[in-house]
Amino acid sequence: MSDWGEIYRSIGAQPVINAIGSVTMLGGSTSVPEVKDAMDKADSSYVPMMELEEKAGEQIARLTNVPAAYVTSGAGSALTLATAAFMAGDNDDFIEQLPNTDGMKNEILIQRKQHYWYDRCLELAGATLVTFGSESETTKQDFENAITDKTCAVHYYADEQRIDPMALSLEDTIDVAKKHNLYVLVDAAGQIYPTENIGKYVRMGADIQCVAAKYLGAPHSVGFALGTQEAIDKLALQSFVGYEGRRIRGLGRPQKVDRSEIVGCVVALERWMGLNHEERLTQAETMTQTIINKIKHISTIDVAMIDNILGVQPFGLTITPNSTADFTVDDIIERLKAGDPPIWTRKAFFAKEGEDYMEIHMFGLKPGEEKIVGDRIVEVL
Ligand SMILES: *Cc1c(COP(=O)(O)O)cnc(C)c1O
Repeated sequence: MSDWGEIYRSIGAQPVINAIGSVTMLGGSTSVPEVKDAMDKADSSYVPMMELEEKAGEQIARLTNVPAAYVTSGAGSALTLATAAFMAGDNDDFIEQLPNTDGMKNEILIQRKQHYWYDRCLELAGATLVTFGSESETTKQDFENAITDKTCAVHYYADEQRIDPMALSLEDTIDVAKKHNLYVLVDAAGQIYPTENIGKYVRMGADIQCVAAKYLGAPHSVGFALGTQEAIDKLALQSFVGYEGRRIRGLGRPQKVDRSEIVGCVVALERWMGLNHEERLTQAETMTQTIINKIKHISTIDVAMIDNILGVQPFGLTITPNSTADFTVDDIIERLKAGDPPIWTRKAFFAKEGEDYMEIHMFGLKPGEEKIVGDRIVEVL
């Protein structure tokens, strides 16, 4: 631990303990040793990027049981490139014209209920987001009614942990979309466990499913698109590789990925698909229990283990100040941040109006840091 964070201190930045989870704001992810090693090896020679993307895509498609795949600069870029691909197709004039969409179908439909943080990535391609349904409910009829001659695709945010029974399901979304010849784009960035979810939405009929490799032990700057051969071929035309290799100026040029990141992404996915997930889950549960055991005697807070193994962050715990507390969650967060080293936490992301509780996740904790987090909570309370 002696040189922990030293490299950041040497340039004047303050390293922190990340008890929030996988958040881009704190660096997103740590590459696992196999990935770091593969990335190091990839660095020792050059390789034609078009060929590397093609071969990496083939490996990823094989691992996830879908027709085709493409490595991108995060799931965010996969969303942008997919949107561009749906609008411009394989028309090189259109590809060079985006984000100006004159002459193209440029409307992407999204349920009002699913309007979320990352739909900005779709607009970046020049698309116009059109919402359908209400805050409380979405029906097939709402979807049908929103389709115009400018509609190009429908976007769906897959969140298996919090399936909303009042939203239009992906099955119904695909059903209506196919009837009207619309593309279906799915943000499944965090749907990485159970592992069969990686590719599932494409097998259900979506054209492109976007996945964030930051959740899989790769650098947080990579991700990939899974899809039909047709959709992935069109997405490839939008990428920085197409820009340089084909000399067609697509909008993906600034969304570069390093060749070592592409290799790292494949190796991370390969490892993830073959990983002993029971062991991984047990470890997260044990770390969570360690923190709970340290803090459960504190009378001013209620502590509970989160009962979840789906997606990105298994287990973890919630802390809720109870009626005897003279502090709020914001106070706890501030006190943890003020210590040395700072521990970053945040208010529960899915807390409803009036609810005051925080979640602590194991994703960003190095082995042993769970003890520091538990002890520090005892100290500040
Ligand atoms: C993280 C995330 C993204 C963005 O992925 P990046 O790889 O960081 O670009 C998009 N959607 C969801 C649901 C995410 O969790």
